Amino acid sequence: MRRTSRQLLAAAFVFASSLAAAGSLPVQRVADDVYVIPGVLADASSANRGRVVNTGFIVGRDGVIVVDSGANHGHGEAILATVASVTGKPVALLINSHPHPQNVLGNSAFAARGIPILATAATAAAMRARCPDCLRSLERSVGAEVMAATRIQLPDRVAASEVREVAGRRLTLLHAGHGHTEGDLVLFDAASGVLFAGDLVYRGQVPHLSESDTAGWLASLQPLRELPVRTLVPGRGPVGTAADLAPIGRYLLQLRQRVAAAYRDGRSADEAIALADLPEFSSWQGYAERHGRNVQHVYFEIERDDLNGGGARR
Ligand SMILES: [Zn+2]
Repeated sequence: MRRTSRQLLAAAFVFASSLAAAGSLPVQRVADDVYVIPGVLADASSANRGRVVNTGFIVGRDGVIVVDSGANHGHGEAILATVASVTGKPVALLINSHPHPQNVLGNSAFAARGIPILATAATAAAMRARCPDCLRSLERSVGAEVMAATRIQLPDRVAASEVREVAGRRLTLLHAGHGHTEGDLVLFDAASGVLFAGDLVYRGQVPHLSESDTAGWLASLQPLRELPVRTLVPGRGPVGTAADLAPIGRYLLQLRQRVAAAYRDGRSADEAIALADLPEFSSWQGYAERHGRNVQHVYFEIERDDLNGGGARR
């Protein structure tokens, strides 16, 4: 059915008004045509509405590429409004960096506008398995009202480690295996030298390890060091430079070394918590709440590897 120009104008007006209603978010220009909508350095709560991870966008010749859609439908709308406040170009592609709820539950706002969504196959599978639970858990943290209209929208394009041209922009995508999560995808924009590292890089915040393989995470950081990075956009915390790849690597390495030593000495997971205090990182957000849990997570990884013949106790 053909629509009249009056109907099209009316539809455009409704679209524009819904974006205006969503309100735009603070936006930081980090390079020519590259922007970040910074998340709050905190855990998800009703006060921050779950807006705790960084979202990025690149304005290409023919359209915009967005990295991560936010924590709920309303957040996705606000991200789209923010993009529209910077450029009149259409959003050509949404990339999900990994399957955590704060990064993907805004997908429905993008899908409602027919925007394709790209992620690794592992991210799509993990979303299918876990998103029903993580939606409910985020609802408990931020409140049902904030999560209104949010529905789980799976990615509809599959990414691997590849170079892909999108909207006239050459994008390098890297998936180095199971690190922070099983689906981690990083995006390097060669034209600007900006690396969107997703949650493989936290700055100033103790990482969440629930879905992590810490040995794989350390391995995933290595190829990032080989890129000509001028600007680093971490998943959490302020925008930095290539040098900011180091602290997260140091945290994970020291954590593994301290826990492995406790394990070799025959200490329990509970005893390891006291033995694996890492004062260098005690000022990071979430240290008191999360570091002990991270020690236990790594303890069970090391125990699993030992029982599978890795030989940490030999
Ligand atoms: Zn994450």
